[in-house]
Amino acid sequence: MQEYKLFIDGEWIESSNGETFDDFNPATLELIARLHKASEDDVRRAADSAEDAFDAWSSTPAPRRAKILFRAARILEERKEELARLMTTEMGKVLKEARGDVQEAIDITYYAAGEGRRLLGETTPSELPDKFCLTVRRPIGVVGLITPWNFPIAIPAWKIMPALISGNTLVFKPASDTPLLSIELVKILTDAGLPRSVLNLVTGEGSAVGGAIVKNRKIRAVSFTGSLETGKWILGEAARDMKRVSLELGGKNPIIVMDDADMDLAIDGVLWGAFGTTGQRCTAASRVIVHEKILPLFQKRLIEKTELLNIGNGLDENVDIGPVINNTQLQKIARYIEIGKEEGAKLVQGGKIIKPLPGYFIEPALFSDVTPDMRIAQEEIFGPVTSLISACDFDEAIKIANSVEYGLSSSIYTKNITNAFRAIEKIEAGITYINAPTIGSEIHLPFGGVKSTGNGTREAGTTAVEEFTELKTAYFDYSGKLQKAQIDTG
Ligand code: NAP
Repeated sequence: MQEYKLFIDGEWIESSNGETFDDFNPATLELIARLHKASEDDVRRAADSAEDAFDAWSSTPAPRRAKILFRAARILEERKEELARLMTTEMGKVLKEARGDVQEAIDITYYAAGEGRRLLGETTPSELPDKFCLTVRRPIGVVGLITPWNFPIAIPAWKIMPALISGNTLVFKPASDTPLLSIELVKILTDAGLPRSVLNLVTGEGSAVGGAIVKNRKIRAVSFTGSLETGKWILGEAARDMKRVSLELGGKNPIIVMDDADMDLAIDGVLWGAFGTTGQRCTAASRVIVHEKILPLFQKRLIEKTELLNIGNGLDENVDIGPVINNTQLQKIARYIEIGKEEGAKLVQGGKIIKPLPGYFIEPALFSDVTPDMRIAQEEIFGPVTSLISACDFDEAIKIANSVEYGLSSSIYTKNITNAFRAIEKIEAGITYINAPTIGSEIHLPFGGVKSTGNGTREAGTTAVEEFTELKTAYFDYSGKLQKAQIDTG
């Protein structure tokens, strides 16, 4: 079994306290790797090392930084299948989704590399003669990155690549359930020529290692994706040092199915949106709001199709639903299924833990007779559980969609163009899909949510570098005399 160390100051080193933790395959419960658990002192060294590297890296012209990213993207492409298999083994998602996860990392790496020749500022006329006004993007400094387990390479790449092209140096902590893909990503960037100390990797427990990143005063910004609870803690803690924070948190994403929808299309969308990645997506469709006129038939046909989903080890190409990530998550999902029943919802399909399989498997669960105020309709479950909620018309469907604290993704199935555009306007969410499920973002568009899903930043797309740069405004006066703005303007 392989042991993995921390990557600090360009060297793979053991943690200073000698502590380790184990990494398991959630489908078989086999031990697959042992990792070093960083101490507070290790995090301090990682931040010091990133700080030392900052001057040289931020002074390297961005198109030159981009060359390293282009090389990294090509290595990712060459290693795509191997990385996807490693991901399925470590995280459990089925192979075709793991390939998609790696592809997302490839796409964002090329996209961020392209930014090396943009990093656009603006120029604008001055109110005074012989004066020039412009803005330039500057890196922030040392940035801390903390990522979850559900997209083991895509989310790290979404943060690392825009942060690097912008000229920052990094301290990166991946989720303890899926550190291996992050380790491979660091190796790939090193092989691509990333200079020593620009990227430092510390693995280990969230509150200890992640907490030390958030509290370190050399780290000027933290980019975090994970749960609302952790995000709130980070925001509060970072406020003490006026640290810049970007948060991508949970979701309770609705699919609205109107009475004029293409029912087969909507059912396929719900199956993919609710049960893809075993429901472990921040954009998973955990509420399906259906027009009351079509609800009985929709429910019957959805049950029939859910029954056909194959559950098992994601390395088997015929499997649709892999395991959930760990036992804590499995028990949390099982507990929510009990809560749903206690609240009076009807479990009409699935929901049982699958015992003969060694891993963390649970049947996709479908609840009917769910009311919007129930906990299963309000709280993020992060598993293969979805709730059918009845709505009498479009306005009620929108009201139900907006009745939760989150606002990440959303969807409507309808042939009515007016309702489609109204949904874009009215649903409180960062993303709205028309006639497609709540999952499936593309890397060249901004990604993020409203309300408790985040604090307003957007990752990916043209906004990707905003998270990792400061805008500086420059005024260049070549008149050779003192000119006073607002006063000498005639
Ligand atoms: P989590 O428990 O909040 O963990 C996320 C990361 O934070 C992990 O690396 C974790 O380390 C670390 N962490 C835990 N406690 C910390 C602390 N006190 N200080 C600093 N770091 C800490 O979330 P998760 O269960 O891994 O991920 C699932 C959540 O992520 C869901 O709510 C999901 O909706 C959300 N998510 C959101 C998006 C989005 O873009 N909006 C995308 C994907 C997932 P350990 O792994 O060592 O605990």
